[in-house]
Amino acid sequence: MDLHIQGISKQYADVAALDAIDLDVAAGELVALLGPSGSGKTTLLRVIAGLLHPDSGRLLFGDDDATRLSLRERNVGFVFQHYALFKHMTVAENIAFGLRSRPRSKRPNKATIARRVDELLTLIQLPELGGRYPEQLSGGQKQRVALARALAIDPHVLLLDEPFGALDAKVRVELRRWLRRLHEQTGQTTLFVTHDQEEALELADRVVVLRDGRIEQVGTPDEIYRAPASAYVFDFIGRANAIEGRIDGDHFIAHDQPLRLGNGNADVTTGDARLYVRPHDLALVAPDEGWPARVIAAHRLADRLTLELQVDGQAKPLELDLSAAPDAELPAPGSTVGLKPLRYRIYAA
Ligand code: ADP
Ligand code: MG
Repeated sequence: MDLHIQGISKQYADVAALDAIDLDVAAGELVALLGPSGSGKTTLLRVIAGLLHPDSGRLLFGDDDATRLSLRERNVGFVFQHYALFKHMTVAENIAFGLRSRPRSKRPNKATIARRVDELLTLIQLPELGGRYPEQLSGGQKQRVALARALAIDPHVLLLDEPFGALDAKVRVELRRWLRRLHEQTGQTTLFVTHDQEEALELADRVVVLRDGRIEQVGTPDEIYRAPASAYVFDFIGRANAIEGRIDGDHFIAHDQPLRLGNGNADVTTGDARLYVRPHDLALVAPDEGWPARVIAAHRLADRLTLELQVDGQAKPLELDLSAAPDAELPAPGSTVGLKPLRYRIYAA
């Protein structure tokens, strides 16, 4: 079902946890809410679930106003990082819980519930484990069961708050790919909260970047990555170098090196500005053909090399990534090179 968040605000004492959030989620979409800790992700999810009342704004499920509905009436499914399974229940009982606890008039009969549990066990690829207890499962398996439990009630919307946050990195990557495939099967409208940009970009149809309770940018992973709307988003979406300079006509000037601007690379048309470039989008050129920089250090990881470089007058060293064959000749620490940005964005300083 489609979901419409209209002007939702929530204040805690002196913190505006959510500040007039507007967001439309289409039926069947998987949307990631991405932002650092404290940006309001959990608060927004709790408002949608009905666990928390907003100070203002409206929430629509389809055409229906859900703002005043209780948690149960909203029919949402959720999985939170620390929302544990019921320890004294088997996996099958956990999954059946939402259906069994419906009022009698709306409760499916036992055989129907059992069938639904079997379907869900197959869907989460744990068909043999219905009789186990949570303590007999790995962390990843537990979260898959939690997801099945959330799906059992055929929720209007599925809310996932850092569901893989407590798992180790390798399992997390496996599970997000699995979740993406599962989503393609179920077409369940889903909001997925994460502070991990890689997770958001790999998993979601659209990404919503939050900052201090406000939406900084909404877009497909591609749009967010290629055209970050602000320095904040650029910085949050991957590794970034910033170079101070100024815009003069259609040039960006830093260290007396004018760089002719391509279309759409700059947010500003004049004055002090900052150029953002990712480490793999910086090229090595002759010292007089780019920003002159001194090599501070070189780190190798397999066929990838990261150079740490200091450009005179810049506060922080820059990073440059390149792929380098094992026998390639590399700039030595202490030597001077030139740097040129291949792909970049410029924002007001
Ligand atoms: P996130 O999930 O993105 O880390 P939260 O939604 O948990 O962010 O928090 C948003 C802001 O609201 C933070 O500044 C946080 O400290 C504050 N906050 C969250 N819950 C409460 C609460 N129960 N009481 C007071 N402040 C809260
Ligand atoms: Mg949170």
